Amino acid sequence: MQVLKFGGTSVANAENIKKSISIVCNALNGKPTVMVVSALAGTTDQLIATAKLAAEGDEQYVQQLKAIETNHLSVVSQLIPVAAQSGTLSLVKRMFNELDKIAEGVFIMRELSPRALDRITGFGELLSSRIVSASLESQHIPHHWLDSRELIQTDSNYGFAAVDYPESGSRIREAITSNGKSLYVLPGFIAADKEGITTTLGRGGSDYSAAILAAELQADVLEIWTDVSGMMTADPRLVSHAKVIPHISYSEAMELSHFGAKVIYAPTIQPVMNREIPVWIKNTFAPADAGTQISGAVPATSDRVCGLSSIGKIALLSLEGSGMVGIPGISRRLFEALSEERINVMFITQSSSEYAICVAVEEAFAVKASKAVDRMFGREIAAGSIEPLKVELSLSMIALVGDRMRNRPGISGKMFSALGRNGVNVRAIAQGASEKNISAVISHADLRKAINVLHEEFFENSYKQVNLFIVGLGNVGSRLLEQLAQQQDQLRDQFRLQLRIRGMANSRKMVLNEEGISLDNWKQQLEAGNATNLPALLEFIKKQNFRNTVFVDVTASGEVPGLYEALLLQSVSVVACNKIACSSGYDHYRNLKGLASDFNASFLFETNVGASLPIIGTLNDLIRSGDSVRCIEAVLSGTLNYVFNNYDGTKPFATVVRQAQAEGYTEPDPRTDLSGTDVMRKILILARESGYALEMADIGNEQFLPPSCMEGNVEQFYEQLLVHEAHFKKIFDQAQGAGAKLKYVATFKEGKAFVGLQHISPDKDMYHLYGKDNVVVFYTARYQEQPLVIKGAGAGAEVTASGIFADIVRAGRVGV
Ligand code: ADP
Ligand code: ASP
Ligand code: MG
Repeated sequence: MQVLKFGGTSVANAENIKKSISIVCNALNGKPTVMVVSALAGTTDQLIATAKLAAEGDEQYVQQLKAIETNHLSVVSQLIPVAAQSGTLSLVKRMFNELDKIAEGVFIMRELSPRALDRITGFGELLSSRIVSASLESQHIPHHWLDSRELIQTDSNYGFAAVDYPESGSRIREAITSNGKSLYVLPGFIAADKEGITTTLGRGGSDYSAAILAAELQADVLEIWTDVSGMMTADPRLVSHAKVIPHISYSEAMELSHFGAKVIYAPTIQPVMNREIPVWIKNTFAPADAGTQISGAVPATSDRVCGLSSIGKIALLSLEGSGMVGIPGISRRLFEALSEERINVMFITQSSSEYAICVAVEEAFAVKASKAVDRMFGREIAAGSIEPLKVELSLSMIALVGDRMRNRPGISGKMFSALGRNGVNVRAIAQGASEKNISAVISHADLRKAINVLHEEFFENSYKQVNLFIVGLGNVGSRLLEQLAQQQDQLRDQFRLQLRIRGMANSRKMVLNEEGISLDNWKQQLEAGNATNLPALLEFIKKQNFRNTVFVDVTASGEVPGLYEALLLQSVSVVACNKIACSSGYDHYRNLKGLASDFNASFLFETNVGASLPIIGTLNDLIRSGDSVRCIEAVLSGTLNYVFNNYDGTKPFATVVRQAQAEGYTEPDPRTDLSGTDVMRKILILARESGYALEMADIGNEQFLPPSCMEGNVEQFYEQLLVHEAHFKKIFDQAQGAGAKLKYVATFKEGKAFVGLQHISPDKDMYHLYGKDNVVVFYTARYQEQPLVIKGAGAGAEVTASGIFADIVRAGRVGV
């Protein structure tokens, strides 16, 4: 004996019904077989909606019912050859006449009792099973259509009736024998009470009908044919990389479905588990796929965490008060109040102090629950010993399921640290004593992110996704994208990181795409985008709430750093080559660093000093390992190096500065470099990262530019340089006379910083500094006589981009 159940999509239209029938025919092979069918996809929902309209007195219900009828009639006419159609068409019409009458009764009475609703919804399965039977008939496939209402007897709890197993069992065995015709077709979902009134087994209940039949018939197997290739590690609509679980135990399947895995209706498992009947979940649309086997024992090689599931729209109810401590019976009364209202409790936690009990229920019951509980504890609430029930809405519950999680330390640690790293705030936690599941209540807005984060953590060791937003696509930004495109495959294969660019912007245009932006044609996509709007960009990042997100600021803009605070608060990491935030007020800088650590995000800005030279990272390592910085000497300006390495009085100083600008070394206004402002920012950042609370105003700066050079626009600045050529020549000659080279040096010593031109003699490290080289010399408690020297190219788009890239990878790999 075998029982095969076909879900709504498997019988949604003529084509699918043919597929289901062919699966049954292949399975028959002389074996007695029971085929259980759901209603045509969507029909149950439509019937409920229609019934509600009728009860509200809305005449639209008539058209809705007509639409359902038309759909069924058209399936019949496509499924069954014309010559054999008429009998079935008139049967369907007769059934709709009956349905019309019942709905009319509801309309007239303006009342929809649970009993009437069951009567109405039950038509879905009656219709579908009759249509399937008619199709078998037309193909001359011998079979019996049986009315499940005559076989499965329940109590009169309409909508969710409880099965009377002994009575149902004997009826089932009497009606279905292994002799005679070997194929039986039955409607799922429906049953009848003692009076013979139609009842239903709960939404999704056709699975359960099939399980009852399989159990009572001692079937060899129960097959659930649906539209996915098995029970998956997570709801495939939430997690695109969800994988089919090849083999799962009854208790795991029960936990997963109980916590929202809709692929199988939770009560289905119990009857087959009791009789140890194996269950297979199979895909009607890919019958060759292996599917999932559900049975008693699973192979030891299976994952310890077998899957994740979630339930949306739940409410958290907390009962709190000093009057609860040590008083027996409080929780009994709480649950009694809820059960009297027939409210199902999905989750319970109680603090060990007994000061609070917290339960989760479906959101739809929140108001009813709160009234019932407040009534139950009316006396204590009036006396002030217990507070009125606290209700929190817009929450979801997520659960990690696996029989073999038990005795395996670290699983919940891994779960909650992954959630924490991604800024998912956990409202309540429960772990069953059996340790088959760990569940947590979180904000509904975080659901998709949380499930994906956990899925990645437990099932996708293959790679971790990093979601990027890049602002600033000039010289450095474009190089960065080129490097990302080039390295993408290697990052994924070797470092298990998959980069997804979800948004990019320059000063004019921005493009945001929740599916990701391809690096092949990003320029076109950007040009076709909208006008740049930073608040809208921030809104998008918040709303999409992607996991593991990194925001990259490759601008020199004063506005973009204004977003960092909001981003870090969202646990979005920030990688900046923009120096403005770190060189603004000390309190602001500290605040951003504090937010990054509080919200488990990275705030990285290695390229603020010396492009991709490992300066800040090295300094951080020194400090973290207990070293302390005594003095820093550094040449940190590519522009100033270039200028003083090339200026020897043969060409005007202005010409050399213009060359530096043409080569792309300078900031847009070269005075930012020549005035020393840029170097001041860099030494400020190094001092701060060394642990000193310095401000820009504390830094000494001996200007070498005559004051008139600082007035007017860039062209006027160049004119003034020419006017003052003699001044620059004199500076050069003085150095040459002393046998020294001119270097623009930043120094930090004894808590004070200053910048300015210095004569450097040939015995110094800094003397031998060419082109755009930077050098930083650290004197620390550990490096006293022999300083730690970091030297190399410290400017240029290519190296700066590579430094940003390294920060992105660092931010993305946090916690891997
Ligand atoms: P049927 O109509 O065949 O009974 P359902 O719609 O009731 O099908 O259940 C199948 C659906 O369950 C799938 O299409 C899938 O979207 C959803 N689903 C939710 N969680 C899971 C999971 N863990 N594994 C597989 N499918 C799941
Ligand atoms: N048709 C019913 C429902 O949609 C039962 C089922 O499909 O399993 O809930
Ligand atoms: Mg279902």
